[in-house]
Amino acid sequence: MKIYADNAATTKMSRAALDAMIPCLEEQYGNPSSLYSFGQRAKEALELARQDVAAVIKASPKEITFTSGGSEADNQALRSAAALGKKNGKTHIISTAFEHHAILHTLKALEKEGFEVTLLPVHENGIVRVDELEAAIRDDTCLVSVMFANNEIGTIQPIREIGAVCRAHGILFHTDAVQAVPHLPIDVETDNIDLLSSSAHKFHGPKGVGFLYARKGVRLTNLIEGGAQERGKRAGTENVPGIVGMAAALKDTAAHMEADTAHLIPLRDRLIAGLREIPHSALNGDEKQRLPGNVNFCFEGIEGESLLLLLDDRGICASSGSACTSGSLDPSHVLLAIGRVHDVAHGSLRLTLGEDATEEEVDYMIQNVKEVVSYLRGFSPVWRDLESGKTPHIL
Ligand SMILES: *Cc1c(COP(=O)(O)O)cnc(C)c1O
Repeated sequence: MKIYADNAATTKMSRAALDAMIPCLEEQYGNPSSLYSFGQRAKEALELARQDVAAVIKASPKEITFTSGGSEADNQALRSAAALGKKNGKTHIISTAFEHHAILHTLKALEKEGFEVTLLPVHENGIVRVDELEAAIRDDTCLVSVMFANNEIGTIQPIREIGAVCRAHGILFHTDAVQAVPHLPIDVETDNIDLLSSSAHKFHGPKGVGFLYARKGVRLTNLIEGGAQERGKRAGTENVPGIVGMAAALKDTAAHMEADTAHLIPLRDRLIAGLREIPHSALNGDEKQRLPGNVNFCFEGIEGESLLLLLDDRGICASSGSACTSGSLDPSHVLLAIGRVHDVAHGSLRLTLGEDATEEEVDYMIQNVKEVVSYLRGFSPVWRDLESGKTPHIL
């Protein structure tokens, strides 16, 4: 059996996205900035895509800027809000300890430029507490950035409540919604969101394209200087096929969000229940307030990389955390943020189901993870010490 269970890292392109893109590559290849009708047709396709994207999050088309993906949208959102804050003498930013590196590394850069950053804890359940966020707000706070749903442990944050607190204090609110759009219902009006980042390849669109929503009146800072594309806020000839593909994927995925959620939750819970039978294991993140397809476990006495390689031999594509940090030996900053100690955080496994996942696949994954964990523990010195009582079990 071949199972792709790493949909938080990237997804397969949908038929809808491919069908929308091919004509843009084969025939309608004009430059949207050209004045002749051939170019203007590309411009029209671009603006239709903008309308479709805006509609899914209940924004207006003028509030959507196309980017090269989630990372660029995150960078532009933070830099824009920081620049606006600085103009008003406000240089304090609040975020969380378990954001994506596109956020954390941009915040590090802003710190070097004189901003002060408070990273909120996310607790054992992987959820930010609104009262703690409100307590961290200062007179000079210009921005709050909290991700909609975490990419490793899938926990969903109280976005609407956080947005309301920010609104009440007159502070801009950004959310990295790359894992949430369009897998969860999002309405930038009722959710009180000022800035939102999204990426096409996380919802069956192409790689290298995404968008940034910025509420009307929130002035964006340019990351790339050049031509007047995207109202002068993002120079460079637009990635028309990518943008058109993104809009098609977004519309298509959003159209069956409810059905997909209803299909995925029982499968996710079946997978969680099955993996829980493994002794000295623990689910990471809140059990219910998590993305419909996300399962993330720690197993004691296991080295995550070995687990992944052996699962790969059995046809299962999984992850130990985020694709960006695998390859490095540091344990996931997300697992450390929810209080897992280094040794335990090293033995992590993330399985993220696609909408076409089946019960048979889930059972195959449970069976194989059980076998591989027990096989690896069989010759692990760490496990021997745990079992002999030389070191105490944590899980
Ligand atoms: C994937 C991801 C990103 C980065 O998106 P890219 O389009 O790959 O740059 C940012 N934030 C989160 C939460 C993600 O999951």
